[in-house]
Amino acid sequence: MKKAISIILMMTMVFVLSTGCSSDSGSEQQQAETPADGENNKLVMYTNAEFAPFEYFEGEKVVGVDPDIVQEIADEMGKELVIEHTDFDSLIPSLVAGKADLVAAGMTINPERAEEVDFSIPYVESIQNIISKNDAEIKSMEDLEGKKIGVQLGTTGDLAISDAVNLEDGDLYNTGAEVKTYANALEAAQDLLNGRIDAVIIDEMPAEEIVKNNSEELVTCIFGEISEQYGIAVEKGNTELLEAVNNTLQKLLDEGKIEELIAKHSN
Ligand code: GLN
Repeated sequence: MKKAISIILMMTMVFVLSTGCSSDSGSEQQQAETPADGENNKLVMYTNAEFAPFEYFEGEKVVGVDPDIVQEIADEMGKELVIEHTDFDSLIPSLVAGKADLVAAGMTINPERAEEVDFSIPYVESIQNIISKNDAEIKSMEDLEGKKIGVQLGTTGDLAISDAVNLEDGDLYNTGAEVKTYANALEAAQDLLNGRIDAVIIDEMPAEEIVKNNSEELVTCIFGEISEQYGIAVEKGNTELLEAVNNTLQKLLDEGKIEELIAKHSN
């Protein structure tokens, strides 16, 4: 399992967030009329807004930690931020196709993705969690033997559990465990509440948000021990934008602002 997970996971290790002062830049949003275009004055961000606290809908508007960070980047660049919502597994293809300038989606930096896009410096550290019903007694990965497990398609949670279930040396291989993929994690959580599946594998902070909203019924525990780091993705070779992204991220990290944004967008 460890071996399988470590293949899909990250290179860098230590990453410390500090605290500091807050300044909320509030995000301005518009519909994208044209594809991302370096010549115009828009910065087009693609995301999957079903991943609170990092991105979620407030009415029609996409808000969260990533929109606030990218608003800051857009402000620094003197550009207008445009946010587009799509399925998680369409994000990298949209970037590669030139529709987006960047992807900010609580996206874990991993070697496979890094072959297709360029990643910023890491800005958040995370780990996969298991969400289950509180009477199901699921406290670790071993308890997933024979269970139906939901994941959001194309996420690192999907890769990790699919390896565990489908690879011959996987910890859940031949135990009767089954993986069910969903276009979005909130649908998976709904099926968990409805009893159609037994567990959902998802990143720690979004797991905690889902559990807080259903605290009578759901609990969360750690799935694996491998830490993941989130990065903002730009098109391969777009060093100018990458530098702007990294400068703003470093500034926000140094000032402890990212941790504040997480607190601001968490329940
Ligand atoms: N961090 C996970 C990944 O990169 C999940 C991201 C998400 O669902 N938005 O695959």
